[in-house]
Amino acid sequence: MSLASSRIASPDTSEIRLVAAPAMNIPLKVLVVDDHAAFRDALQELIEGFGHRCRVAHDGQEAWEMLQKEPADVVLSDWQMPRMNGVELCRRIRMADGEDRYTYFIVLTGMTDKARFLRAMEAGADGCYAKGCDPNEVRAHLISAGRLVGLHRRAYSAARTDALTQIANRLRLDEDLNAVWSHTKRYRRSCSLAIADIDGFKNYNDHYGHLAGDEALRRIARALRQEVREVDTVYRYGGEEFLLLLPEQSLASAKVAMDRVREVVEKLAIPNASGQGAVTVSIGVAELDLAVDASPAAWIERADAALYRAKALGRNRTEVAAR
Ligand code: GH3
Ligand code: MG
Ligand code: MG
Repeated sequence: MSLASSRIASPDTSEIRLVAAPAMNIPLKVLVVDDHAAFRDALQELIEGFGHRCRVAHDGQEAWEMLQKEPADVVLSDWQMPRMNGVELCRRIRMADGEDRYTYFIVLTGMTDKARFLRAMEAGADGCYAKGCDPNEVRAHLISAGRLVGLHRRAYSAARTDALTQIANRLRLDEDLNAVWSHTKRYRRSCSLAIADIDGFKNYNDHYGHLAGDEALRRIARALRQEVREVDTVYRYGGEEFLLLLPEQSLASAKVAMDRVREVVEKLAIPNASGQGAVTVSIGVAELDLAVDASPAAWIERADAALYRAKALGRNRTEVAAR
């Protein structure tokens, strides 16, 4: 994988590698901050010439406001500026950056006292250098930045990906559930979730071995992902359980979609432990109901209860949750 292709990779599709590739040309979103117009413009021209996108701000305060609207991968900032200086800007960015982003921050200063350089580093800067517009030096900074930003994105994505099936994992589920919960609460939209559990999977493992079990899990995960809509997400919820988050789906439409998913799994025709039929899944579906569900966990609990009913009623079927 080259750094050029290291956008935040969707955990659903990417092969995650944490190796920092040596490629140098990852296109970056850069912000240059300086109150000195000639220097600012020269730096912008240079950076754009390297193929990166480059915005400019006149001081720390303006940069801070611009970053609220659109974050940057790299900030190259002067130290002394009116309203807000570069080190204060850096401190603020470090406080504000969530886990999902790393802003590479370089301070370029006219002050040559090396003890001050250390202060910038302690405030969170990735580098502090004497101000200059040497093309090789600027390019070197951007190569370092691209490497770290790319590595951070891949680490973020890997932490949210299930290693066996390459679909989203529990951490990503927890984050997405909280987001969906707030969104649904605020905008009063419908949203459903489903839990699909493989039928008789212990017997499958016992009969065909654990490696074959792993391969079946991979195939079923892939089939689920291919069957749902772009806006839906499939997570590995437990050992042989998948959770499907279905935004904008009422209980009735989610039931129809999940019955289709159930049939698709059966049509994979993975021989079951008895050798008499195919591996199947049982599914429980619940629509978020804010009058009933006190938390995302309570919502999942209702889907789980429906799943257990599907198991009790004979497996390879979809049941919906009572309110
Ligand atoms: P039911 O129809 O009631 O769901 O029965 P079941 O056998 O599928 O359910 P049970 O909970 O008894 O067993 C789940 C099995 O899933 C046991 C476990 O070995 C297997 N399993 C869980 N995670 C993995 C995995 O990562 N790889 C493999 N190969 N098997 C797994
Ligand atoms: Mg289970
Ligand atoms: Mg099972």
